[in-house]
Amino acid sequence: MPNNTFLSSFYKGFQIIKSHTTNSLITITLKPDPTAMCQCGRTSNSVHDYQWRVLKEAMMFDTPVELVVQTRRINCSSFGVKAEARSWVASYSRITNRLKGYIEKLLPLLPIKHISELTGVRWHTIKEMDKQRLKRVVPEVPWSDLRQLVMDEFTIFKGHRYATVIADAQSHQVLWSGIGRSRKDIRPFFEELGDNAANIEVVAMDMNTAFDLEVQAHCPNARIVYDLFHVVAKFSREVMDRVRVDQTNQLKTDKKARR
Ligand SMILES: [Zn+2]
Repeated sequence: MPNNTFLSSFYKGFQIIKSHTTNSLITITLKPDPTAMCQCGRTSNSVHDYQWRVLKEAMMFDTPVELVVQTRRINCSSFGVKAEARSWVASYSRITNRLKGYIEKLLPLLPIKHISELTGVRWHTIKEMDKQRLKRVVPEVPWSDLRQLVMDEFTIFKGHRYATVIADAQSHQVLWSGIGRSRKDIRPFFEELGDNAANIEVVAMDMNTAFDLEVQAHCPNARIVYDLFHVVAKFSREVMDRVRVDQTNQLKTDKKARR
């Protein structure tokens, strides 16, 4: 029996009975202690049935780790047949809490594809974890408090397509984003805004989009404001450049002035 006291301390209620290491995988086999803990907190020594399951664990020394675990259903004196409670993995999950925590730390930093490559966990599993995480960390949109909005477009897919983002001008909270920049593309935002659209007083936006028409169609009390950056950009592009060209053309025919 190897001395696994240190590692065993990570798996409360379980003992490591075997471990196997190759260059690409560490396999740890875990068996539960005789006394099981029910989800309700009562202990039980009566096992209903058991099976072996393979769980994914966080990497150790740059090597993926797999746990082969004997999981049990026990007879609880109050609730009948129940899955045994384990503090280090959720019932029916195939990923330990430690690996889940690690993935959640990586999610704000790396694309899901890279996390999947790094941890060996399926893309869809990580995507689902990210959705749950975002629900926790992203605040609810205070629809009825909205008064001033900003809208902007940005390129995605290396400049081949556009997306739109809409934010609260006061709190800077992002309220909505979606693929595309047409009136139809941004309509879902206004549908969600619903009757609160009447509260909107000001919407700031870029000058060369169809956003203004869609805003006017939904927000009867909103003034459209073109933000200064875009106004200056447009002015320099269309007015100052025009003046420069005109001046240059004029000077071409005026030899005295060119000196
Ligand atoms: Zn119970």
